[in-house]
Amino acid sequence: MSSPVTGGPGIESLGTMLTAGALLSDPASTEAYRHDWTRLPDAGTPLAVVRAGSAADVQATIRWAAEHRVPVVPRGAGTSLAGGATAVDGCLVLSTERMTGIEIDPTTRTAVVEPGAFNAAVKDAAAPHGLWYPPDPGSFRISSIGGNVATDAGGICCVKYGVTSDYVLGLDVVLADGRLVTLGGRTVKDVAGLPLLKLFVGSEGTLGVITRVVLRLLPSPSPAATLVAYFDDLRDAAWAVVAMGARVRPAMLELMDAASIGAVEDFQPMGLDREAGALLVAQSDAPGAARTDEITVMAGCCEEAGARSVFATDDPAEGDMFLEARRAAGPAIDARGSVLAEDICVPVDRLPTAMERIGAIAREHQVEIPVFAHAGDGNLHPAIVHVPGDQEGRRRAEAAFAAILQVALDCGGTITGEHGVGRTKRSALPAQLGPDVMELGQRVRNALDPLGILNPGVLW
Ligand SMILES: Cc1cc2nc3c(=O)[nH]c(=O)nc-3n(C[C@H](O)[C@H](O)[C@H](O)COP(=O)(O)OP(=O)(O)OC[C@H]3O[C@@H](n4cnc5c(N)ncnc54)[C@H](O)[C@@H]3O)c2cc1C
Repeated sequence: MSSPVTGGPGIESLGTMLTAGALLSDPASTEAYRHDWTRLPDAGTPLAVVRAGSAADVQATIRWAAEHRVPVVPRGAGTSLAGGATAVDGCLVLSTERMTGIEIDPTTRTAVVEPGAFNAAVKDAAAPHGLWYPPDPGSFRISSIGGNVATDAGGICCVKYGVTSDYVLGLDVVLADGRLVTLGGRTVKDVAGLPLLKLFVGSEGTLGVITRVVLRLLPSPSPAATLVAYFDDLRDAAWAVVAMGARVRPAMLELMDAASIGAVEDFQPMGLDREAGALLVAQSDAPGAARTDEITVMAGCCEEAGARSVFATDDPAEGDMFLEARRAAGPAIDARGSVLAEDICVPVDRLPTAMERIGAIAREHQVEIPVFAHAGDGNLHPAIVHVPGDQEGRRRAEAAFAAILQVALDCGGTITGEHGVGRTKRSALPAQLGPDVMELGQRVRNALDPLGILNPGVLW
């Protein structure tokens, strides 16, 4: 399966240090690791791929890469929507896909997880113990815990339960010189030393490679009741979200605009109302009567904002159907052409403004921009669709992409709420952070990776 790459710096010497089958260097095998879900047209060609079987494999790979000054692109499941796991020419793609161990400890309510395990596998392993791992990116069935930690992934339940970093208690990380450090552990409290654990969460593979994660688990939540509201006007739906945010704490609060509804119905008919201007899906998992109270308050907010129909159900299967419709929005829009995926996040009270400006940008640049959103967090996913191979369309899509990043900044928000900066948003990062914070970040990165071998081109 593996053969030396012509001209590579003695890649076969790396193969002898790794567990059997870890090194792939024939182009037919490495081709599958060039792209992530972003499918950037300028993805590079790797020198080789290491499918690490252990932390020792990761250490050997990093040491070899440092010695030969070869860039390393850490990779979980490759579902990055920011180009974070996209190969660069002559790199080693360091995949954790074979490191999938999971151990649940019901006593401390923790899970010790290898980085390649999928998010869904952790949820499945916790469930028989009456435990739950909350972070639920739309990709939870196809993305890895290592990738989730490296991007500080969010998801649908963040509005009540927080993001990945709220659940990371401990990490093993292989540093750019090959040393393995253990940060944190299984205790809920730990304030010994600088909070370095948090530095690695969301570092997008630029500071080290995560080889083990200790996750906090919660007791399984009560079954949720679901509220569904259709609106004629997207702005009314946005105002309903603002009103709800001030009055209740939903377990999820998601939005789809008319174009997203249409895309889902085209992709996989689910009986959504194609005539509506927007759909809100909210849930409450509050215990007992509080659940009904929350649903009543949320329904009132929708009606006051001008909803054309409001519907609530206690039936989990019915609620799941709407949740699945929302989860299908990303893949359904992807099926319409090439997509530039945005991930801006604004203070919730600026949602209506952000929505209006995105609509104006779509008209100005003559591009289709369906919007779906973790609306309760103010986290919007405008998806700029263009026709593959149409250079002029791509240019207009890129102009719209930059304009939407500016909307986030004008609204006092961020260019990325959960997908990361990756390669796609780095040009806008200085405008958000400013020169002093950029320089601080660069100093940290230089200190941890003085040779600049870890994920070059990501962040800056
Ligand atoms: C359909 C769909 C829906 C999505 N929905 C959401 C969502 O709701 N919320 C959300 O936050 N994201 C979402 N995403 C984006 C993506 O799934 C997340 O960013 C996810 O966390 C990436 O995990 P991964 O295993 O695929 O990582 P990869 O794509 O392989 O890598 C992502 C980044 O993490 C780094 N990395 C990976 N593993 C390691 C490691 N062990 N050590 C150090 N660095 C590492 C990579 O270098 C890269 O920078 C979605 C993606 C898709 C395709």
